[in-house]
Amino acid sequence: MNRLPLFLDVKARRVAVVGSGPLAARRVETLFRAGAEVLLLAEILSDEFEALQGSFRRGDLAEGDIFAGCALCYFAPEPGEEPDSALVARARAAGALVNVADHPQISDFIVPSVLDRSPLVVAISTGGEAPLLGRLLKARLETLVPAAYGRLAALAGAGRAALADKLTSHAARLRFWERIYDGPIAEMALSGDEAAARSALAHEIASCQPDGSASGDFPRGEVYLVGAGPGDPDLLTFRAFRLMQQADVVLYDRLVEPAIMDRVRRDAERIYVGKRRSDHALPQEEIGELMVRLACEGKRVLRLKGGDPFIFGRGGEEIEKLAEHRIPFQVCPGVTAAAGCSAYAGIPLTHRDYAQSCVFVTGHGKEGPIDLDWSTILRPRQTVAIYMGLAHLEFLMKELLRHGADPALPVAIVENGTRANQITVTGTVADIAGKAVEAALRGPTIIIVGEVVRLRETLNWYSPKIEAEHDDK
Ligand code: SAH
Repeated sequence: MNRLPLFLDVKARRVAVVGSGPLAARRVETLFRAGAEVLLLAEILSDEFEALQGSFRRGDLAEGDIFAGCALCYFAPEPGEEPDSALVARARAAGALVNVADHPQISDFIVPSVLDRSPLVVAISTGGEAPLLGRLLKARLETLVPAAYGRLAALAGAGRAALADKLTSHAARLRFWERIYDGPIAEMALSGDEAAARSALAHEIASCQPDGSASGDFPRGEVYLVGAGPGDPDLLTFRAFRLMQQADVVLYDRLVEPAIMDRVRRDAERIYVGKRRSDHALPQEEIGELMVRLACEGKRVLRLKGGDPFIFGRGGEEIEKLAEHRIPFQVCPGVTAAAGCSAYAGIPLTHRDYAQSCVFVTGHGKEGPIDLDWSTILRPRQTVAIYMGLAHLEFLMKELLRHGADPALPVAIVENGTRANQITVTGTVADIAGKAVEAALRGPTIIIVGEVVRLRETLNWYSPKIEAEHDDK
């Protein structure tokens, strides 16, 4: 290690910045945020400084002792401009530690790439060798470290003093925090319920055992109802991914792709609970009971669902069951199939010229095709996205015609939307059922009915994600 990493308290300490461009402005901003008394040494200032009025004081380099009392001094020469080595020497002679941008060899310290989840801060350095690599790594960490980690760090900060009073042994405190970070109290903070997290933490501190282990008052078990999106794993949310990484057991259905299951924590137990139209691997009632039982055993249960859990996902019924048994749970939304299919097939669901509204309907009721209120569904300038409609396609199209739909109204069927094997078949209300049979579609499919389907032809050329038109024979 060539340099010593440390985090310096600069509150109310004088720090000089020499430079007038955007880089100098960035330095001023960060220093001001960290509480420093910023002294700016520059003749003219770029526009960036306008927003920073009040966060710095200006000084004059002609004054002989201008660097007196400065703890640090940043030089931010314009790109291509050489730093003034006499000035650097002056700052150093006055006792300041010096940084010269892009010149690590003449710098006492270098400026890291920073991932800010205050109070949690990650600083990355490549020792000045490869600053861009540092920035790339930072970009990766941005996606890995949830934005809410700051809240978690603040929660821990709030409990630190009380815990130190309660537990004198370092090992006991370590055991305590490991348990908290890994459990429902941290999860409460991460999901945004800070008040509940703080009061649960206070309770846990007051009641934990002398060795830091659990009081037993707070059950560890909980349920995460998570939307996994329509198939492409890139469509998982950061939150879904985090919960997938910390679950002990996963209950998943048929619509959850193997590519998504691959992203679940390796050693989590996996339970397939199925659900196909006619062959329910586990009846809904039993799925609910299983979740309750596993959570009561103290497990973190991930209920992974295709698309969004609250859109034709029976998520509502499942949380009712959990609430009835007082099991803590959280719901994480996902990209619903209609949204995924729309984007990946190049068919916007709304469009200023073609559709001002969009309805999501299910084509399948408890027993066979559903009885829909066609008069509200079949409206001018409205797109209809039908879930679970393939098995009753012919019936649904006949109903549309019977209620006055134009036989030439365009229809698209997107099968396996967002997945590698996505297929789109287009036609009209009059002929789409025949085309679906010809294409031997098996589902899952979203049926999109409306003028917006015409836009597919316009939009098809630009996106590599949009698959080639299905070859209608
Ligand atoms: N909660 C899910 C929907 C569950 S209902 C969501 O928000 O997407 C199951 C139906 O969703 C399927 O019958 C099909 O109509 C649709 N569906 C799910 N994934 C799909 C996909 N990748 N492509 C097309 N349709 C899909």
